[in-house]
Amino acid sequence: MARFPEQIQNLIDDFNTLPGIGRKTAERLVFFVLKQNAAYIHKFSGHFEQLSAVNKCQECHNFSFAQTLCSICDDPKRDKTILCLVEEHHDLNVIEETDTFRGLYHILGGVLNPLEGITPDKLNLQNLIDRIKKNKVTEVILALNPDMQGEATIMYLNKFLQPIPGIKITRLARGLPMGSDIEYADEVTLANALSNRREVN
Ligand SMILES: [Zn+2]
Repeated sequence: MARFPEQIQNLIDDFNTLPGIGRKTAERLVFFVLKQNAAYIHKFSGHFEQLSAVNKCQECHNFSFAQTLCSICDDPKRDKTILCLVEEHHDLNVIEETDTFRGLYHILGGVLNPLEGITPDKLNLQNLIDRIKKNKVTEVILALNPDMQGEATIMYLNKFLQPIPGIKITRLARGLPMGSDIEYADEVTLANALSNRREVN
């Protein structure tokens, strides 16, 4: 027999599917929710429900609630000739928070990791060359984490993009600790790494 009424157990099971949330934490979260009023629960579940309408931007693979382009790709004030390649959505967000980058992004959806089966065909590279040509991109910034997979991906992309005439391929300046994650870099460090970026060689 279940320890909790089914309605409660179901939500505990749902929370338990989230990364970093074990069973005990899931229980604590659900009991917190149970102590809130009905308005809180409706608002919370409404926000959850809205996420089911999410799309991927056809250009950069960012989350978008519009049909085709995300708000960044759709912004005429952004500089289409500079393209910043990042691993995941949260990397895009931390770079946006530095408020120093006015170009566009391209989310790879991962980095190369052959041991885990992440080979180049698993990355969002299919429309990358087309975007670079269409937007007359002059610089591609490889803003990847300074760890083993990030380095391997930078080397791969440098080779992959090298044949395109007229583009500079850059990477973040040293300053981010080796093995660290862009996601956790403070804004000043990241802004510096971005403004002091250097060519990949
Ligand atoms: Zn986009």
